[in-house]
Amino acid sequence: MSARIIDGKAIAADLRGKVAEDAAAFLQQTGRKAGLAVVLVGNDPASEVYVGSKVRMTRETGMGSFEHRLPAETSEADLLALVARLNADPAVDGILVQLPLPRHIDSGFVILAIDPAKDVDGLHPENAGRLMAGLPGLVPCTPLGSMLLVESVMPDISGANAVVLGRSVLVGKPVAQLLLAANATVTMAHSKTADLPALCRTADILVAAVGRPQMVKGDWIKPGATVIDVGINRLAPAEGAAKGRLVGDVAYDEALEIAGAITPVPGGVGPMTIACLLKNTLTAARRRAGL
Ligand code: NDP
Repeated sequence: MSARIIDGKAIAADLRGKVAEDAAAFLQQTGRKAGLAVVLVGNDPASEVYVGSKVRMTRETGMGSFEHRLPAETSEADLLALVARLNADPAVDGILVQLPLPRHIDSGFVILAIDPAKDVDGLHPENAGRLMAGLPGLVPCTPLGSMLLVESVMPDISGANAVVLGRSVLVGKPVAQLLLAANATVTMAHSKTADLPALCRTADILVAAVGRPQMVKGDWIKPGATVIDVGINRLAPAEGAAKGRLVGDVAYDEALEIAGAITPVPGGVGPMTIACLLKNTLTAARRRAGL
């Protein structure tokens, strides 16, 4: 039997609709729009596309969008000065500094400079600590989106075995914390884990965030498992094609025959990331307004 396909595009559209309703209520309650500032340094083509989508969707959701495009040679001091201005600006509820930054800027330093109450990417160590401590904070967008996709097919994961492949600060670690907070039994795997296929076969929920195209094979998957594929990898272009196909970290066609539910790539976790950024911006705005 073929797995249920988790439609991230549709779930993200629903979430954006809900955020738009909440944004309208926020405007009514406070007399101002919730606002997201996006900072792009340089002109990395992928980052330009991401920032463009973030700005467009922020506006479509009825929130204020503040765009700061800085030249690639911007100094770390100038970027930190902009972050300080955004921290102090009452119209700005969320600050997103698009990564990666040019090599001469220390991104860790920049993230530390963002007011944790406005850190809608959830990357500030204070927010990471809050997530671990079970305190309210801002949760990184891709992990939050992944968790919402799990919940869309498994409303109660209490006692389920979850395996998270990848332990990055951006994805793997926060995903594991969210699963743990929802009472799953969580194992985190990484490049030094022994016998990954056998470990993966124990997973009722398998989250793949390794950045290795189609690494997780069909026979790594427990029959009926929920598979969340966070990976976005571009294959080499086929002959005559300008661009290669986008694939996840899971061998999708094989996994489809074994899993109970699975996210496609594209159209799974990807669309949830921006929707969760908008959700986080509204959460930050409401908290800052004492609502
Ligand atoms: P990182 O490169 O930061 O982390 C990759 C993790 O995978 C590391 O923990 C690494 O282990 C582990 N890993 C690498 N190779 C193997 C292997 N052969 N076996 C087991 N574990 C392995 O990547 P990110 O977490 O930032 O991103 C992961 C993927 O998710 C990427 O494809 C990225 O493009 C995608 N992504 C998608 C987003 C979306 O919106 N859908 C957003 C963010 C990321 P170790 O720690 O031991 O090195």
